[in-house]
Amino acid sequence: MFIKTAVKPPQLEYLEEVHGRIHMPESDRRKYFNLKLGFEGEKKVYNFLNQFKQGVCIWDIRLDIYGEIQFDFFVIVNGIIFILEIKNFYGNYTYKDGNLKSESGYVCRDVFSQASNERDKFEAFCYEQNIHYKIINEVVFVNDTFKVINDVKDIKFNNMSAIENLAKYMCSFNITNEDIAIGELIVKHHIEQSKNEQKYFYPYDKMTRGLKCPECHRFLEVNRTVKKKVKCRCGHVMAKSEAIIESFRKIEMLKRDSVSVSEVGEWVDCNPSGIRKLLGENFIKIGTNKNRKYKTIK
Ligand SMILES: [Zn+2]
Repeated sequence: MFIKTAVKPPQLEYLEEVHGRIHMPESDRRKYFNLKLGFEGEKKVYNFLNQFKQGVCIWDIRLDIYGEIQFDFFVIVNGIIFILEIKNFYGNYTYKDGNLKSESGYVCRDVFSQASNERDKFEAFCYEQNIHYKIINEVVFVNDTFKVINDVKDIKFNNMSAIENLAKYMCSFNITNEDIAIGELIVKHHIEQSKNEQKYFYPYDKMTRGLKCPECHRFLEVNRTVKKKVKCRCGHVMAKSEAIIESFRKIEMLKRDSVSVSEVGEWVDCNPSGIRKLLGENFIKIGTNKNRKYKTIK
């Protein structure tokens, strides 16, 4: 039973939208793919655990324990708090001196000692909060293609079956009031705003216009011959009104400012009066007539 779920990280949302509209340096491109991969891995775990009604589950918590620290999942059951650190690495890796190195040269440093550091910090939190449950942390490699190709003794690389076993364990106990109280206490301390956010914003006026499909992120062709529904090559269908609203939200995010009817018209080729009507119904108007712009409620 989930008492908190995650939303897509704002930085991922931003970079995903910028991607393909303007040149992105390698550092941001890598950050984008890593964030995307990480989020997809966590979503896989969430979708699996969410099938079960037992166990108090929490997805994505940031706590301030002598500095900001992020936890992917907590599962609270039978006097134990499981901390899950999810890795969605794919392909072949070699493991040496605590580091995992991919064939393309990507290195993940101190995989296990990082996780145990996090556990130590969480133990300090529990001590402070008077929580006396046992704490177990696991690093789980959820991508089926992940493989450590060199001979590593004494270290077990958990895969999805660790999550399946945990789910079985979770289902053999009933949730107690104490489990819930502890879960709620952790959630209460969650820091919403992360310090690790996008610092550099790309200039909107230099970006390629156009709505991307919310499913596959390819650019969608929306023109006036389209009647009511917009269909993507991937099969995703959205109403024209939905496409207009979605465009508005994305432009507002990229521009970081209020948005006019004509700006939305650059993304989706629709009748301006139709766009004006929709924006007026859904967002806040600022300015008058020709200079009118819209923004979301904040
Ligand atoms: Zn699509």
